Amino acid sequence: MIKNTKISFEFFPPKTAEGMQKLRDTRAKLAKFKPEFFSVTFGAGGSTRDRTMNTVLEIQAEGFGAAPHISCISSSKEEIRDLLQAYQAHEINRLVALRGDIPSGEVSAGDFRYAAELVEFIRAETGEYFHIEVAAYPEFHPEARTPAADLLNLKHKMDAGANSAITQYFYNTDAYFRFMDQCSAAGINIPIIPGVMPIYNITQLARFSSVCGAEIPRWLKMRLEEYGDDIASLRAFGLDVVSELCETLQASGVQSLHFYTLNQAGVISNILENIGY
Ligand code: FAD
Repeated sequence: MIKNTKISFEFFPPKTAEGMQKLRDTRAKLAKFKPEFFSVTFGAGGSTRDRTMNTVLEIQAEGFGAAPHISCISSSKEEIRDLLQAYQAHEINRLVALRGDIPSGEVSAGDFRYAAELVEFIRAETGEYFHIEVAAYPEFHPEARTPAADLLNLKHKMDAGANSAITQYFYNTDAYFRFMDQCSAAGINIPIIPGVMPIYNITQLARFSSVCGAEIPRWLKMRLEEYGDDIASLRAFGLDVVSELCETLQASGVQSLHFYTLNQAGVISNILENIGY
């Protein structure tokens, strides 16, 4: 369809040498879509700090744009300052700034309560050096008191200095379009990039969705459940659904798409080929 949509891909930092090699292969396959950047997630409380950094540096060394995620929950200002300085020293200039999910168990609260405070801190420490992405929630964050409060939070993140936002995934495009209208009415004028989650497996998708508040519409859930163990048919159907979602977004003028890859290239390559890449 429309080839000039900007693409980005999200990875998690692998735990093993084998996982790192698999991710290299995934990147090699996704490189042909000329992504604007690859981003790498960050475990709450800094649990993946070194692995995120190593993965990002490897991506950068391959000549791609690389964006580490930083989550601030349970972190001190000193820890975040060290991380920012390390990324600056390596000339990494794009970040995805998040609060992170509150870890269970006895963990210190840290110096930050919300992502807006992290964005404010990054700007205070490093000025305009970083392009800062933040998270946005078309179907609202599970802890949001009200939709209006969640929207106001996104505005706070923009006012604190965020340059753009990436959304939680969604399968209901109306939720995204209505959210965009509300953002516009609230004066949120930064780009809001749809996050796209391919469908690999219903059990995993249902688990993710119940935690992050992204709804799997009833018709979709029932159709996916109907496939049972027939993974090939489920993926073929999921491929059609997600390709259509991307086409609907593109047709509405969306200029960038961010794919949650789960470190796999196959389904996403098929989606991108389906939509004309
Ligand atoms: P915030 O923007 O701080 O919002 C969190 C909640 O607090 C919202 O409900 C908001 O409405 C509410 N809130 C904000 N300010 C206030 C206030 N002043 N008073 C009361 N309530 C308030 N998690 C990770 O751990 N690592 C990752 O790498 C990661 N990457 C992600 C990438 C994307 C694109 C997205 C969409 C999510 C990602 N997450 C990641 C998940 C994210 O960390 C969780 O959704 C987390 O629960 C919220 O993070 P946030 O940055 O949106 O938080």
